[in-house]
Amino acid sequence: MLAVLTGIPGTGKTTVAKKALEILRGDNISYELVTYGDIMFDIAKSENLVEDRDQMRKLNPEQQKKIQKEAARRISEMGAGKNIIVDTHCTIRTPRGYLPGLPKWVLDELKPDVFIIIEAKPKEIAMRRQEDKTRQRDGELTEEIRLHQELNRDIAMAYSVLSGCTVKIVKNPQGRIDEAARNMSEILR
Ligand code: ATP
Ligand code: MG
Repeated sequence: MLAVLTGIPGTGKTTVAKKALEILRGDNISYELVTYGDIMFDIAKSENLVEDRDQMRKLNPEQQKKIQKEAARRISEMGAGKNIIVDTHCTIRTPRGYLPGLPKWVLDELKPDVFIIIEAKPKEIAMRRQEDKTRQRDGELTEEIRLHQELNRDIAMAYSVLSGCTVKIVKNPQGRIDEAARNMSEILR
């Protein structure tokens, strides 16, 4: 099984996924969690294009596409014969507009079975971004967050048409990570 895990920055993807994997481990179901951005970062860093992870989305779209493609190839190699969750973004907000996180050539490599979208209320996402000092996230107005989440639903359905995967929306309400993790783990059994 290959699951693609998405949701806009600060929505709680990584937090919910880690808990969901703990639940599954308790039932002897193992998944490997691979962060697409980490693989892209390793590639960009080895080519001296960036020094830290949050500079990645400032790269020009051509550079991003090249790195994106190489990352897809590496992940598909890593996932052979294993359960794998790919933590990534449906769209990336760049200074020149939204960039699809999973264009056709990426989907063709990954061949996802299920697409999970983690969603939360725009106000809660804005608050989580502000409070999370471990990361350097872009500021976005709640109206922009709302639009970004809407675009991600739309594009996830397009990805589903291209790849044949299903799309599942998991809500991650404020203070209810365990509930979100339980719902996510049910999809992965
Ligand atoms: P990115 O795409 O930038 O990696 P993310 O979607 O992986 O972001 P996380 O890093 O998992 O987001 O979470 C962002 C912050 O929100 C963290 O500080 C996390 O503890 C907090 N958080 C996540 N889910 C909830 C929740 N349900 N209630 C309260 N805080 C939460
Ligand atoms: Mg994350």
